[in-house]
Amino acid sequence: MALNRAMIFLGPPGAGKGTQANRAAKRYGVPHLSTGDMLREAVAQGTELGRSAKPLMERGELVPDNIVMGMVEERLARPDSAQGFIFDGFPRTVPQAEQLDKILARRGFGKPLVVEFHVSPETLLHRVSGRWTCSVGGETYNIYERPPKVPGICDVDGGKLIQRSDDSPDIVRERLAAYDRKTKPLADYYRQHGVLETVDGSKGVEEVSRELNEIFARAAGRDGHL
Ligand code: AMP
Repeated sequence: MALNRAMIFLGPPGAGKGTQANRAAKRYGVPHLSTGDMLREAVAQGTELGRSAKPLMERGELVPDNIVMGMVEERLARPDSAQGFIFDGFPRTVPQAEQLDKILARRGFGKPLVVEFHVSPETLLHRVSGRWTCSVGGETYNIYERPPKVPGICDVDGGKLIQRSDDSPDIVRERLAAYDRKTKPLADYYRQHGVLETVDGSKGVEEVSRELNEIFARAAGRDGHL
């Protein structure tokens, strides 16, 4: 079944957005669009965009809106985005959200459905410090809560697990501060537009998934499509 809408997972680093976006994207057959992943890829490839984003990402600061918007617009023009998509880590500022609304309208989509993940700062720091990601397929693990079967190796595709350099405690604190300053106001923006839902992101992966599915089902009942 097609999603036919833009879903936005809003929340600080470590809230579980990536894990849930990955699962929901598979369930609904739509792309999982993480601007963080797109930027890390640009950095790894050494493109001009990657070179300008790299120092900011290393410090835990946001990349300028125009860079991110250009990247997102290009990505949404691909055919696999025609049936809907799930954003993880985007938008991160009110201007990004305003520009996204215009892009969605141009592409014939209605209002996005936004889910805010609530998690305490202590849980976030704990989760991020234990986070390891597969260098091949992007599957994420947590050495405290959800360790891989073989240390350092992905259960799914055998890829090597790596730790993100910006997951170190000092940089995570910067990223949380950037979230509070620039991204938190987005919850008000979307609440005013009547599209904000919330989940308790401190619960386990399965339980949060179930809550999200209920949110999707309610929205589908309201709007006549998923
Ligand atoms: P993430 O993987 O979502 O935690 O993103 C990693 C880093 O990429 C962030 O700390 C920012 O430097 C940058 N970034 C990712 N998405 C955005 C965005 N939508 N706007 C600005 N910067 C972003």
